Amino acid sequence: MVTARQVFLHQIPVRYVKGVGPARAEQLLRLDVESVEDLLLLIPRRYEDRTQFVSIEQLAPGQLATLRARVLTKRLRPMRGRRSLVEARLEDETGTVTCRWFNQPYLAKLLEIGDELILHGRVDPQPPVQLINPETERVEQDGAEAMLHTGRIVPVYPLTAGLSERWFRRTLRGVLSEYAMAAPDVLPLAFRQRHDLAPLGWALQQIHFPDDWASLERARRRLAFEELFVMQVRLALRRARLTGRAKPQRYATDGPMLRALIKRLPFTLTASQRQVLRELVDELGRPNPMLRLLQGDVGCGKTVLAAALMAIVVQSGYQIALMAPTELLAQQHLRVLGEWLTPLGVRLALLAQGVKGAERTALLADLAKGRIDILIGTHAMLQESAQFGRLALVVIDEQHKFGVSQRSGLAKKAEAPDVLVMSATPIPRTMALSLYGDLTCSTVTELPPGRQPVKTIWYHEAQRSDAYRIMAEHLRRGRQGYVVYPLVNAQDRSDLKAATQMVRALREAFHGVRIELLHGQMASSQQEAVMHAFARGDAHLLVSTVIIEVGLDVRNATVMLIEHPERFGLAQLHQLRGRIGRGTEEAYCLIVSDAEEESATQRLSAFVGTTDGFTLAEADLALRGPGELLGSRQHGWMRLRVASLVRDQALLEQVRREAFEVVARDSQLLAPEWQLLKARLRLSAKPATPASAR
Ligand code: ADP
Ligand code: MG
Repeated sequence: MVTARQVFLHQIPVRYVKGVGPARAEQLLRLDVESVEDLLLLIPRRYEDRTQFVSIEQLAPGQLATLRARVLTKRLRPMRGRRSLVEARLEDETGTVTCRWFNQPYLAKLLEIGDELILHGRVDPQPPVQLINPETERVEQDGAEAMLHTGRIVPVYPLTAGLSERWFRRTLRGVLSEYAMAAPDVLPLAFRQRHDLAPLGWALQQIHFPDDWASLERARRRLAFEELFVMQVRLALRRARLTGRAKPQRYATDGPMLRALIKRLPFTLTASQRQVLRELVDELGRPNPMLRLLQGDVGCGKTVLAAALMAIVVQSGYQIALMAPTELLAQQHLRVLGEWLTPLGVRLALLAQGVKGAERTALLADLAKGRIDILIGTHAMLQESAQFGRLALVVIDEQHKFGVSQRSGLAKKAEAPDVLVMSATPIPRTMALSLYGDLTCSTVTELPPGRQPVKTIWYHEAQRSDAYRIMAEHLRRGRQGYVVYPLVNAQDRSDLKAATQMVRALREAFHGVRIELLHGQMASSQQEAVMHAFARGDAHLLVSTVIIEVGLDVRNATVMLIEHPERFGLAQLHQLRGRIGRGTEEAYCLIVSDAEEESATQRLSAFVGTTDGFTLAEADLALRGPGELLGSRQHGWMRLRVASLVRDQALLEQVRREAFEVVARDSQLLAPEWQLLKARLRLSAKPATPASAR
């Protein structure tokens, strides 16, 4: 039996709320509101202070005013069509004023001569002084309604069509009194007192109908704290679960294979790479599993560090799974790692989509028997049939392209594998703490020597030929280039057609230049052939969709032209640009755009202005918010409703320390005070049926 006190607000479907019903529930769904909790956490977009009354004689044109006045006269005036106008004359001790409400004919009935009203609205900027469509409440008769829409700090919600602010305020007041006060608070009293946090019910009440600004801030802090705390406890528990016990595998961390690899490299590691390698090797040698994020801007040389760990693991007789987000990148890994490791006797294989039938069966058998040391692939590796004999290390490249479930899916293929995830998307710290909060982090902070920052130039459509001239110049000198075309939606054939036409136009513009087209709808063997030709230098110009975004490494490519850059996010643009400037040659990124919309021009200006990934990531976070930044709206678990990764950095740091401390002391949350939190974490987010909810 679930007792009333233990029913969480997210378990109560919103359609059971008084005044909601199926139609409203449908509309609320468009705001992602399914449960009472969702409703209560639909935080006002802003608040209006309607507590300061002005007298009628003080009203000034254009002013936003709240006033209290008595109805002198009223009349309803029908207008053309189904429109109407209610006009009233109001008075207070200082004078009279006219109010006009369009299309609210019911007001003519509702308002009585002599009624005292509270009104809130903007004074018409044009004389005479009058109020148009002010929010209106009667002081006496509306009873519970009074002081809901006016006369207080009033919430304003981000609503969809069909739901009015007034309906919303009324409904919320009802929900608050019926559910909020009795809702179980996952933060225990002693904990709340220690951190000066208000009780849940009070905070919910105040976030919607604050008594004053200080109470609002206190309410917001409490709710943001809880939201971040729940998130961080989840991450801390996850980390404890994955790294809390000793792993079966043991490595010889300074075997000859690692030394042989380092010796074979055509370059020497940078100081930063050496430092990070020490961190990684050190953690690999410990008795508990590694769970680490390897971060570093595009082109800083993360692959070679992964290769070094692989050498250690293979030397010790274990297997490695390397997962990449695209088959193209998987193929490149096979090529690059093969160059370094095959001569040392390491056996690599690619689990490609094209490998079918008997060939696939044989490959999987080799894998199970341990005759393959490193298996490279895409998320296709997650399928049941891929079973490793002695898997010990899981490496996930370009982590941001995968969801958390895919990350853990691969890790499940061994008892307690070491896990290294690599990400080239520099992300602001607050996001790292949320997305990768269960991982420890190493960062490669320097680029290999001799790299010059890519020069980025923004051309308007009319200047396209100038951009072409630069491109032609690079090609003439024997360099290669990319032309990137946004294929926003892989299903959208018209975009693809545009890219194909682009190829034709470029072939006309650039005589004697070998141009190839690459896109995600080509068969992977065909993609591989094109990419190979480009990597060998047989193709000079690669016209491509964003599938080249991640990881590709062709050093001779020194110029990139991006079409419709306004359609990309900053993180993505930065990734794209990272494909060039990988050698010591000067490289150019040319963007062609007539975009005028402010958010687009802000983004593009930021992109032209700096090549620093972290600066761009911060800008992107501020301009577009976390979901857009990673192109990962599907990361629903990261959807924050109260807290903000932009504003609440300090709070997040504090909460994270607390959460990890709590879990360090009590890694399974056994203490009685955490039972509600534990129940909250374990329960699914789906609303329960009404029977069990009551
Ligand atoms: P990312 O970190 O973006 O994955 P890669 O691992 O693909 O970068 O490395 C980019 C390029 O730099 C590769 O061609 C790689 O061989 C090269 N590289 C890596 N480390 C060094 C180094 N210390 N000196 C010179 N080149 C390096
Ligand atoms: Mg890479």
